[in-house]
Amino acid sequence: MEKEKTTEELLKEKLFYKKENAFKCASEDYKEKVNAYGEGYKAFLDNAKTEREAVSEGVKMLKAEGYVEYKLGDKVEKGGKYYLNNRGKSLYAFKIGSEDIENGVRICAAHIDSPRLDLKQHPLYENESFAYFKTHYYGGIRKYQWVTIPLAIHGVVTLINGENVEITIGEDENDPVFCITDLLPHLAREQATKPMSAVFTGEGMNILIGSEPYGECDEAVKLHMLKILNEKYGICESDFMSAELTALPAGKAKDLGLDKSMIIGYGHDDKVCAYPCLTSLIESENSPHTVMCILADKEEIGSEGVSGMKCILLVDLIEELARSLGANGNIVRANSMCLSADVNAGYDPLFPEVYEKRNAAIVNCGVVMSKYTGSGGKSGTSDASAEFVAYLRKIFAEEGVIWQTAELGKVDVGGGGTVAKYVANQNITTVDVGVAVLSMHAPYEVIAKTDLYETHKAFCAFCK
Ligand code: MN
Ligand code: MN
Repeated sequence: MEKEKTTEELLKEKLFYKKENAFKCASEDYKEKVNAYGEGYKAFLDNAKTEREAVSEGVKMLKAEGYVEYKLGDKVEKGGKYYLNNRGKSLYAFKIGSEDIENGVRICAAHIDSPRLDLKQHPLYENESFAYFKTHYYGGIRKYQWVTIPLAIHGVVTLINGENVEITIGEDENDPVFCITDLLPHLAREQATKPMSAVFTGEGMNILIGSEPYGECDEAVKLHMLKILNEKYGICESDFMSAELTALPAGKAKDLGLDKSMIIGYGHDDKVCAYPCLTSLIESENSPHTVMCILADKEEIGSEGVSGMKCILLVDLIEELARSLGANGNIVRANSMCLSADVNAGYDPLFPEVYEKRNAAIVNCGVVMSKYTGSGGKSGTSDASAEFVAYLRKIFAEEGVIWQTAELGKVDVGGGGTVAKYVANQNITTVDVGVAVLSMHAPYEVIAKTDLYETHKAFCAFCK
């Protein structure tokens, strides 16, 4: 016999809010779905380490679902499925709904660039018979985390004739990898007393790439490296000037934990939201709404430039779609809604001092909504409206989405931003929704599979 609940207990149930863990009452069927979705995501993550690779993977997924390439000015039709590949570095995919496009577009926008070490334009040098690549780090990295780990080189070299040479070294089982060396503890007595920022400097992030000389001459190791690159890729030293090569953590994403409930991998921020943006667009097939998935570049360095979310392309694209369908683009944007899909800081019990737990993202408690981001008194956030949050509460409840609200850390401890404000600035109602991450911006970040799956469910509910 179950004990009868007291009046206080009943009143608490009625009045209190309680954050639920996704594993509470989770059926075997639910866990199977969570795991199956995680497998698809890991495959995507392994093939989408850079923004260019993420665009290629996205296009592959979309083509398989009947999406066709769209270029600005093309005619579109109701029911049509299209993607705009923006210079190979950002992607706008959309499905035209059956309803009037002036009812607005449902947009999910994630970013596909991740923190890393970009090679400089003159990267290659030799020092004491070692060859190195000089780097300029991209995005907010804690430099000490990036030394002594195996690094792969990804990217493209554009030759003077316009041909793109794609380079990936360090991912195949038989490939070599690279690394930045560090001092041994035996000789680090003085180093250990210095602040981290003094020990690991930007100019110190030089990647060891070889040690064998070619013949007997000055810079014989550097010569050997160029000989190898020339034989394999047909490039010479001057070609580095028109290249986008980057060093990033080598290897594949893996399940984390004895229970395999989590995934460790490079670039969860923000591929863990980019993937659900794609899958929810694909699943919106029968939705009456026009649905759009944006995978943006350059978020980690301020969303600038032609492939970043500050670019006017989104406005141009909506204008073109509206024109093609005989509608007014300004009205389309005014009635559009956007989930700015980006990660949040998962509460880490090893560092409780930086979180305000009541308002922190708890891993395995579902997709995270942040009404506002920013730092230092909500500075730099678009701060979503109560009305929009209430609307999302309703549709998440209808679709059984497990979700929570959170902000990034304690007030005045730090902060951060997303693409939300750049979309909102175009008169599009926007809020941040995404996955909680542990060790954010580290070479290998951690997420929970249930949170990933609930993010997919949330985006599907929004696009439905
Ligand atoms: Mn992000
Ligand atoms: Mn980030």
